[in-house]
Parts: sequence; structure tokens; C-alpha cells
Amino acid sequence: MAYQSTNPYDGKVLEQFKESDAAQLETQLATAVDCYAAWRTTSFTERREVLQRAAAILRERTDEFAKLITLEMGKLIDQSRGEVALSAAILDYYAQNAEEFLSAEKLHTKTGEAIVESNPIGVLFGVEPWNYPYYQIARFAAPNLMAGNVVMVKHASNVPQCARAFERLMTEAGAPAGAYTNLYISKDQVSQVIDDPRIKGVALTGSEAAGAVVAARAGQNLKKTTMELGGSDAFIVLDDADLDEAVKQGVIGRMGNSGQACTASKRFIVVESLADRFLAQFTAALAGFEPGDPMNPATTLAPLSSQAALDNLLEQVQRAVAAGAKAVVGGARSDVPGAFMQPTILTDIDKNNPAYKEEFFGPVALFFRVADEKAAIALANDSPFGLGGSVFTKDLERGKRVARQIETGMVFINKPNSSSPELPFGGIKNSGYGRELSSAGIQEFVNKKLIRVE
Ligand code: NAP
Repeated sequence: MAYQSTNPYDGKVLEQFKESDAAQLETQLATAVDCYAAWRTTSFTERREVLQRAAAILRERTDEFAKLITLEMGKLIDQSRGEVALSAAILDYYAQNAEEFLSAEKLHTKTGEAIVESNPIGVLFGVEPWNYPYYQIARFAAPNLMAGNVVMVKHASNVPQCARAFERLMTEAGAPAGAYTNLYISKDQVSQVIDDPRIKGVALTGSEAAGAVVAARAGQNLKKTTMELGGSDAFIVLDDADLDEAVKQGVIGRMGNSGQACTASKRFIVVESLADRFLAQFTAALAGFEPGDPMNPATTLAPLSSQAALDNLLEQVQRAVAAGAKAVVGGARSDVPGAFMQPTILTDIDKNNPAYKEEFFGPVALFFRVADEKAAIALANDSPFGLGGSVFTKDLERGKRVARQIETGMVFINKPNSSSPELPFGGIKNSGYGRELSSAGIQEFVNKKLIRVE
């Protein structure tokens, strides 16, 4: 069965879900359309109440929601709790700020009056990944519901319990039927939904491959899309960086969510003068992670999201090694049952190695040594991706100067990438286009309508 909840820690199948048939999908679409007709006329206050109730429920029942994440995709339980808290914060953020973000803008004109209003556009369709099962959908649903749109979500097939839990959360919070709809649908049905004239916009977070398919389909239908795709973020350590701090943050940047984050630090680019010491300390730190039950707060290394994810990552590491890379730590699966990958560092990756251009979605760090700042920037930019990145230096002005030269949507100085409701999130190049979160995230699927009085 396509939608299946399997615990990656012990391989147990927890629950299976049937895909919607044509009639069920039609009912869901029709309900969403009916709901939009009413929802678009509700006040910000009414919408705000629903989102704030949803945020309150998430906070009251954090453990219940967090355990589902850990059960289905293996995230360490404390990190699952953190994700629930962040999702609540996103719901609250848009509840509080949407009205201001979407307020009418008066233009300066020589004569008469000109106003730009932000109107909702209708039923939106989101295709979402498993790595942050609630956060990903919160950042799509919250701004769009506040803008007066309604949303339908096809979640990843390995987190169907989280998908159901979020839909129930919205219903419990008072969202009318059709405001938030979870879809258990096949890839063919994804295409049908995109083609359906009742769908007015499409957002995808996921891999480049899925993004290309979904964006092309939406393009054929002249529908606006946003694409939040993969990344291979550079983590640049300059000669004047605080080395201990850089190592500590590098471990956080690579190992959070067992390395399965689009904005995880993936390519460690260290200037020659610090390279040996950085590598020695980073290696020692990664070697200290111990696999265990992700439900146990004492566990440091979580499994990957599935056995298939582990197999893919192992194959990728083996290809990199066959092409000349060296695994200075790790390089294999952990010697325990479950989908565990040893924290790994690959060095000696030359330009012809496939690893040079690939994204490693798990606890595998690519290490590069470079002569200086200029070479670090050039290497950071020599990637098909352009999502995030980090620069480590004690000189913050230097950090900002380097950041401006990095070709990505986000750069953090002296920290790995992180996400917060008020910060825009998104990339360029093969990492996609459009932004989620912040005031930018609510502007993607609204009609900026000019009203002119001469
Ligand atoms: P994925 O395979 O692309 O899956 C993401 C979603 O797309 C799932 O719902 C999946 O459904 C669906 N999908 C996949 N192929 C499709 C197709 N041909 N047609 C229609 N839908 C399709 O990605 P993943 O492996 O789950 O997630 C990891 C990727 O997402 C990484 O590249 C990561 O960097 C990226 N990501 C990006 C961001 C960001 O904000 N930029 C955030 C998180 C993750 P099924 O599950 O049913 O296959």
C-alpha cells in the first residue's frame, strides 16, 4: 500500500492507508471549492481564532504530536517536540501578522487614487516532504489560510499519521470542512489535481526531481508555483574563525534531524590554516554519536527516515569512495538493527567525483580544504544548488561581505541555517524559487489587485 507508516527504528509497520478513489477525490475538491466561497469572506479575526486555537492545541498536546513524528520517521524525540513548538509558532505568527502584511497599499499617483489590495485566489495544492512532517505543512497552510485561500495537501507517503493528525488538528481548531484537506493520492492523481481548473496555485517542497515534474505540469496549466527543493549548503570556515565554536556549530548543522534537512550544512569548506585541526575535532565529535531508540531522550543518533533512505545514502557514499573519496570516519551503516547510518566525513572529493555536485540527505559531511577566502567563495558557488549556507569568522563585516558573494537564498554568519517564522526561507538555482515564512511567504498566492480612481 502506497501510504504506510513504518517505524524506521524497528521496521514495524504501524498503519496502512488506502488511496482516495476518483469519487472521494472529487468530493474533497468540491468541498474545498465550496469552503473557499465562504472562507474568503471571513474576517482576519475569524481566521486568526482558528489558527491560534490550532497553535494552542499543539502546545497543550506536544507529546502526542511529537511521538507520531518519531514513530513514523525516526526523529529524536526532543527534536520532534521542537518541531511541534516551531509549527505552533508559525501558526501564531501568521495569525498575528497576516492582516498587517496584506493591508492595502496606497500608491503615489499624479492624479486620483490608486490602491493595491491583496485578494485570495482560491484553492491551493501543496505537495510536502516527510523530513519535518508538521513544520512543512504549517509554513504552507498558515499564511495561505490567513490570506483567505484554502489548501489541499498531498503529504509524503511515509508520514500518513502525521498528515492525518494535522488535518484533525485544523478541524478541532474550528476550520470548516474544506479549509484544510489532507489527500492520500497517487502520483497520477497529483497530476489530475494540478490539471483541475479549480486549483489556482501549487507549492512543492521536496527533491529536484519531484519539483521538475510538478512545476512542469503546473506550467502547462499556467499555474503559479513555489518550489522549495534540495540543497548542498556550504559551511565556510575562514582563517579568523573561532575554531571550537565552528566545530560545535558544524556538528549541529550536519547532524540535526539525522542530517535530513534541506538546509543542513553539507559541504564543509575550511581554509588551509585551520583545516587539519577542524577535521580532527569534527571527526572526533561525529565519532561520538551513538545509535539508539529515538523515543529515548538520551539517544544521540536517530535512524534515517526509512530503510530505502539508508540504502540510497549508502549507495551514494560507495559511489563517492569508488571515485576516489576517503571516509575518514563512518562510511557504512551502523552495526545495529534499524535504518542507522554512521556519521560520516568524506574527504578528497575532486570535481569529477559525483559527490561534488550531489546532495547527501543524511549524516554525511563533505570536507574540502581551500587556500583562502576567495577560493572558499568560488567552491561554495560551484554547486547546482543555491539554498542556504554559513560563514564562520570573528569579523562580522567580513562575514557579511562574504555572505553577499554566496549565490544562495540565505546565509547565516557563525551559525548553521535555522528556520524561524519571521525569516524568509527559500533558494535560487536548482534549490527552487519563491519564499515561505516571513511577510514574503504570504505574498506568493495572493492577487495584488490595483484599484484605480482617476
Ligand atoms: P521527494 O521524493 O521529492 O518527496 C517530496 C514530496 O513529493 C512527497 O510528497 C512525494 O510523494 C512527492 N513526489 C515525489 N515524486 C513525485 C512526482 N513525480 N510527482 C508528484 N509528487 C511527487 O523528496 P523527499 O525525498 O521526500 O525529501 C527530500 C528532499 O526534499 C531533499 O532534496 C530535500 O533537500 C528537499 N527539501 C527541501 C526543503 C526546502 O524547503 N527547500 C525542505 C525539506 C526538504 P511520495 O512520498 O508519495 O513519493
